Amino acid sequence: MNTTYQPEHEETLDPENWDLARDLGHRMIDDLIDYWQTVRERPVWQRLPAEVKERFDEPLPEEPQGMQQAYQDFQDLVLPYPKGNIHPRFWGWVDGTGTVFGAFAEMLAAGMNSNLGVADHSAVHVERQVINWSKKMLGFPGAASGILTSGGSEANLIGLLVARNSVANADIGNYGVGNAEGRLTLYGSTESHSSLMKAADILGLGKDAFRKVPVNENFEVDVGALRAAIVRDREQGQVPFCIVGNAGTVNTGAIDPLAKLAELAQAEKLWFHIDGAFGALAALLPEYEEKIRGLRKADSVAFDFHKWLYVPYEAACVLVRDAEKHRNALAVSADYLNPQARGMAAGPEPLANYSIQLSRGFKALKVWLSLKEHGIDKYRRLIRQNIHQARYLGSLVEGSPKLELLAPVSLNIVCYRYNPGGFDEDELNRLNQTLLAELQERGIAAPSYTVINGRFAIRMANTNHRSRRKDFHHLVQASLAIGEAILCARPAEAAACK
Ligand SMILES: *Cc1c(COP(=O)(O)O)cnc(C)c1O
Repeated sequence: MNTTYQPEHEETLDPENWDLARDLGHRMIDDLIDYWQTVRERPVWQRLPAEVKERFDEPLPEEPQGMQQAYQDFQDLVLPYPKGNIHPRFWGWVDGTGTVFGAFAEMLAAGMNSNLGVADHSAVHVERQVINWSKKMLGFPGAASGILTSGGSEANLIGLLVARNSVANADIGNYGVGNAEGRLTLYGSTESHSSLMKAADILGLGKDAFRKVPVNENFEVDVGALRAAIVRDREQGQVPFCIVGNAGTVNTGAIDPLAKLAELAQAEKLWFHIDGAFGALAALLPEYEEKIRGLRKADSVAFDFHKWLYVPYEAACVLVRDAEKHRNALAVSADYLNPQARGMAAGPEPLANYSIQLSRGFKALKVWLSLKEHGIDKYRRLIRQNIHQARYLGSLVEGSPKLELLAPVSLNIVCYRYNPGGFDEDELNRLNQTLLAELQERGIAAPSYTVINGRFAIRMANTNHRSRRKDFHHLVQASLAIGEAILCARPAEAAACK
């Protein structure tokens, strides 16, 4: 181990040989292009072999292995075993599919290594423009504020933070939640995303402060029950402060009656936040105008670029109607950060005043470049394509006597199961768990799962710009074939399969 500083041998992390670095950089791009072009030919997913997993137990490197060898490790250990979410038949959770130019943009952003917390430089203006474009996309006023975040989880957290700190007569930002006149409570449907419970916990309210209100048969919140819950809590001395509406629930893609929720929030003087992680982008489509109209009335909305705008991870955004409240919740004066009359810190206002992070990466660049590359109308067409593909899958399921749709297809999500008849619910749950595992482990397709009214569902969420109709057809055929094979492998059923 070297413990001496040698002034005559000062070092840097820059390459010793720039030509070799250039060659390797070009090769990496070539390798990526090949990887993207051939993605359809590979299995969607495969488990890491044991000998590969063992390599991740290697100790901290003391000695250099150099760029070339390090890159070789990436090619051997990392690249061949992806989650699969750039594959045309990946529809798990709500994973984004990324783009080629988006990946290049990440490289450019990393090359500049911009830090967007404070100071006046181009990257800050890029993010400000992306926020302004986002207001346009979602119908928010120009005076609203916003900030890019790591994901919808952080965007929800910021929305709820501003809501919490805006509770009247409590100055929670300075004195904490104990200064409120009672326990702070917020409201959303039973279908609300787990990130909202996490946010309630992080904000010092506790997960239980999030009151989960029942939904109707379309998985949309029951507004009457929500109103009743608010009244009941008030009677018991609690302090309701926020309603959370879903624009696209994670389980089924349901859109709450947002306009009614907006009215209710206004009547009850509550903050209205919308979790629109993916569904908020449906606001781009004229045919969803009526359903999503209430989004424009929200006090804050959280949505992801890395889901339904297909931008590579990570990038999301929160918009806040009242910029002053947003600023009050997150700006903290500090001698080493405050604006100066001249020099680098003379403006614009630091993005850090609206952000949890101080040091912030340049995730705005990939959004900015992608929107310039394709134009918003292309995204409209792709989002519409995803919705129609989901409906197509829904119709294939409905047209197949052995498959069963478990929830209405309201956006881009389809929940179904294999149900040939004659099995009880527990057996069907086990059968479909096995079926899904087979689909994934054989690399055929990667839907994920959820539970709908106690029933295990195979869940297809489509934010995939590479999927084609034939891929959904393939999913249905494979589900039927695997379902039958599982049954025929059982002694009791085998006779019927011959
Ligand atoms: C994905 C999702 C989130 C969380 O967003 P992340 O980007 O994963 O942090 C929140 N709400 C809904 C409805 C989601 O689908």
